[in-house]
Amino acid sequence: MKTNIIVGSGIAGSVLARRLAEENNEQVLVVEKRKYIGGYCYDYRDENGILIHKHGPHIFRTESKKVWEFLSRFTDWEDYQHKVLTNVNGQFYPMPINLDTVNRFLGTNYTAENVDDYFNSHRTSPTEINCVKDVIESQIGSEFYHAFFEKYTEKQWGLPCEQLPPEIVARIPIRKNRDDRYFTHRYQALPKEGYTKMIQGILDHSNIHILLNTEYKTIKDSIDCKHIYYSGAIDEYYDYCYGKLPYRSVTFEFETYPIEQYQPVSVVNYPNNYDYTRITEFKHFYHIKTTNTVIAKEIPHADGDPSYPIPTNENKELYNKYAAIPNDNVTFIGRLGEYKYYSMDQIIEKMMEYEI
Ligand SMILES: Cc1cc2nc3c(=O)[nH]c(=O)nc-3n(C[C@H](O)[C@H](O)[C@H](O)COP(=O)(O)OP(=O)(O)OC[C@H]3O[C@@H](n4cnc5c(N)ncnc54)[C@H](O)[C@@H]3O)c2cc1C
Repeated sequence: MKTNIIVGSGIAGSVLARRLAEENNEQVLVVEKRKYIGGYCYDYRDENGILIHKHGPHIFRTESKKVWEFLSRFTDWEDYQHKVLTNVNGQFYPMPINLDTVNRFLGTNYTAENVDDYFNSHRTSPTEINCVKDVIESQIGSEFYHAFFEKYTEKQWGLPCEQLPPEIVARIPIRKNRDDRYFTHRYQALPKEGYTKMIQGILDHSNIHILLNTEYKTIKDSIDCKHIYYSGAIDEYYDYCYGKLPYRSVTFEFETYPIEQYQPVSVVNYPNNYDYTRITEFKHFYHIKTTNTVIAKEIPHADGDPSYPIPTNENKELYNKYAAIPNDNVTFIGRLGEYKYYSMDQIIEKMMEYEI
């Protein structure tokens, strides 16, 4: 029986590999260029016993019972409700904006019943929404835009908000209560032993074989396969024949401190100071007690590992040109194959519904 090739052992490739192996009883060869499985979800335990997310903090959440039950076959869970603070002028404020953020920042006493009065009287009414500034100011007004969002967004994307297309920001959530959780999904937790262990479990099937440290192009002519599912970058696959799809990249500067705790929650945003956008302190994820702590400062760049697709119309058109190249042998999947930001649960759900 000919094998399928799955390029990439991230969450997209791994879920699809499992389904082909289990549901169709097909052979699958997973080809991974890195020395580890898991893609952007890869984590490892360091010498302090702390689970480190190598490619940035990954918080699992989903509304889908189906996704939750699928993953629960491969991991136990650690209860975790993600909390984020934003540091503005040296003070910490809950993020997303809630009643406490508003009252502490403005020095007011708004309640759930009247906090809308503030936003209704401060949001702007541009005749057209042409840029990120328009999107945010028209929802929450200039004060919160300047203090909490403007510089963060500019650091993240490397351009002034006036030049950033509206598509790159979503609706800004405003909580009229004091709920300080970042997500409110029905299911939210972290894999008990980490994402790498969970993905190892997904790939652990007698029909699945894994080749690490292997760039797909180096083996492509040596295997006569049934079908290729490609979770690498689509423009790279086609040797950038129409040009490069732009990505924003992020790198992480890891630092270890001989202290129990660096910051009050796992993630603190720094919109206005420093080159980094946020600091993650990993030990909060698993509530562990150690004498050391490890943090990562997240610094956005124009070049480097492709982290975030930049969803402008121009880039989407370029992606569509690549996607339209006739190719019966290859299906492009995942965040790089589809040039689209997916959260983990979104891509898992998509791979679970894929016709195979
Ligand atoms: C900074 C950051 C933080 C995030 N935080 C969250 C979060 O908190 N919660 C959440 O739900 N989602 C989060 N995400 C999204 C999450 O990372 C993605 O949903 C997920 O990684 C998508 O998996 P994937 O398999 O499509 O891609 P990837 O994980 O990138 O996997 C692709 C794999 O293909 C391999 N590969 C590529 N090209 C080749 C080739 N030519 N040959 C061989 N191998 C190749 C790569 O090495 C990689 O292992 C975050 C993303 C980023 C960038």
